[in-house]
Amino acid sequence: MSHSAKTLVLHCIDFRFVHESVHFLKNLGLLNQYDDVAVAGSAKNLADPYDRHDREFVLRQIAIAKKLHGISEVFVINHLDCGAYGKGTFANAAEERDRHQRDLQVAKDIIERRFDGLSVTKILARIDEREKVDFEKIA
Ligand SMILES: [Zn+2]
Repeated sequence: MSHSAKTLVLHCIDFRFVHESVHFLKNLGLLNQYDDVAVAGSAKNLADPYDRHDREFVLRQIAIAKKLHGISEVFVINHLDCGAYGKGTFANAAEERDRHQRDLQVAKDIIERRFDGLSVTKILARIDEREKVDFEKIA
């Protein structure tokens, strides 16, 4: 096995998404082919960090993955009903979705500005009442 990976995946720590995320990435042909970074809130750590060290921590993980494994792309997965954004933060579902879309875009801009040659794919996940998880690529 070559010691390289095409992709780094940045996602939330939330246990409800772990199994389904692996399945989703497997379906994209990425099983055992991606570097994995889990931090509460995912893109929020870049777009609206709790403190500035959180942003640098995430960017450092990407820099290490690029240097050691030659990654060429980053998947940033946020999810609805994320505790890192706070329960009851949003007035309605549209406001919640808008916030995630905005944070994903800001995260993409920050990553692409910092690293030449890295492309960023934005993904928003949701879980329904039957605990089925859906992943949506955001244009
Ligand atoms: Zn979360």
